[in-house]
Amino acid sequence: MSFVFYNTLGRSKQPFKPLKGKRVGFYGCGPTVYNYAHIGNLRAYVHHDILVRSLRRAGFDVNHVMNITDVGHLSDDADNGDDKMLKTAEERGKSVLEIADFYTKAFFNDTDRMNITRPNVICKATEHIGEMIALISKIEANGFAYFSGGNLYFDISKFPAYGDLALIKPDDVKNKTKTGFSRIDQDENKRNPGDFVLWFTKSKFENQALVWDSPWGKGYPGWHIECSAMSMKYLGEQFDIHTGGIDHIPVHHTNEIAQSEAATGKKPWVSYWLHNEFLVMDKGKMSKSAGGFLTLQSLADEGYDPLDYRYFLLGGHYRSQLQFSFENLKGAQNSRKSLIDKVRNLTDETGSGSISANKEQKQPEYGKETKVYIEGFNNAIEDDLNTPRALAELWGLLKDKSAANEALAAVLDMEKVLGLGLQSSALNDGEKNNKNSEIDKEFALEIDALIKKRAEAKKARDFTAADSIRQSLKERGILLEDGPSGTVWKPVP
Ligand code: AMP
Ligand code: ZN
Repeated sequence: MSFVFYNTLGRSKQPFKPLKGKRVGFYGCGPTVYNYAHIGNLRAYVHHDILVRSLRRAGFDVNHVMNITDVGHLSDDADNGDDKMLKTAEERGKSVLEIADFYTKAFFNDTDRMNITRPNVICKATEHIGEMIALISKIEANGFAYFSGGNLYFDISKFPAYGDLALIKPDDVKNKTKTGFSRIDQDENKRNPGDFVLWFTKSKFENQALVWDSPWGKGYPGWHIECSAMSMKYLGEQFDIHTGGIDHIPVHHTNEIAQSEAATGKKPWVSYWLHNEFLVMDKGKMSKSAGGFLTLQSLADEGYDPLDYRYFLLGGHYRSQLQFSFENLKGAQNSRKSLIDKVRNLTDETGSGSISANKEQKQPEYGKETKVYIEGFNNAIEDDLNTPRALAELWGLLKDKSAANEALAAVLDMEKVLGLGLQSSALNDGEKNNKNSEIDKEFALEIDALIKKRAEAKKARDFTAADSIRQSLKERGILLEDGPSGTVWKPVP
């Protein structure tokens, strides 16, 4: 397969050619773990996943690296506002690392439920301070930094290519005519509003919980440096693909490029930049800091499988804005259910109940009809990961009259990219239908006991234990709903 990706750097579709043959170095910006991921964030990670799955299915050996931001991210990407982690820790009376640990687990719980493949390397910012200091020292030695008011800043005027990714010019930054630059409390120590902090020693966060020794004094890193330092540690000084949401283009990724290329002198630092558009609600962008956002669990509480939400996301191309509504999610749920029914029929017809989508199997020789859909699917995926078109090929395949064994094999092949759990759900539902659907008395008593145990865990603020009880019951077909009069349960619809 020959992939073509829309590269934000150059704003064009470009043929994909990795630096090292079939080996692909990929870095995706990970979560800032001060709250649950909202369903908009999860769109970004489904995008990473489709990219990785597509490349692997095509025979590329992908090394996928993702960071966990547990220090240094302020509420405004350009060094203003509160420290996100610190603020939450203070509000909850917990340490920053306790907060980080809790929300990191919650994050992977969500991504696992959405069939998002875990990265090969998951790296925490707080565990890579040494690498960040080493990189900042190189930037400073190469003449791109200045010390002012107790902090070390990157001087964007020394880096002529600054803003190429975002198509912004230094004057735009000065005049703040582009989004992404702070509209609030500018830092007077900066020579240019676009300069950014590499290392904080003195700032408004006198009470910063986590500080480290450094050549510039005791302090902590700016947010952007972690991604440069960790990606280069695991992928080398130049690598193939970097992703994130579009909000990262004007500040975070622009700054990552400037500091990385300033440190190594090698260009381009990253060959392909892929950015996902936003998931929006009626009232606009969903944001963690603004609060009032939807989590995956809140969709599950309404009776939706996390994979229904995955189906919903794949129905839009990652570069188009996607409007969330429960009505649209219901549509996605119905469509996925109908796909599962079709796959169950194929499974019954072929007697291949034991075939698992995850197991490597020999594909049958496809006839002409099946080939058309597989080729259509491949063309869609190669063309900048066009999942809506890929789904249309899947529907075409299942509506058409290919032989059942071929159709099933083709579905499972497509599932390597889509990850919609179509066959596993078909098999599980089949098993469920065979069992007496009445929940027996003994199980009902066990559920009640577990609800009690979960309430105790919540009271003791052990949310991980509480969540794991909820999840394990869900896997056994029971949904818990918290309401004003306590927790009630019902069978998964
Ligand atoms: P954060 O944890 O805030 O650093 O964000 C994690 C990822 O989610 C980043 O790649 C963001 O660009 C992305 N993101 C944030 N909000 C949305 C949204 N509403 N829709 C899609 N992606 C988003
Ligand atoms: Zn990043």
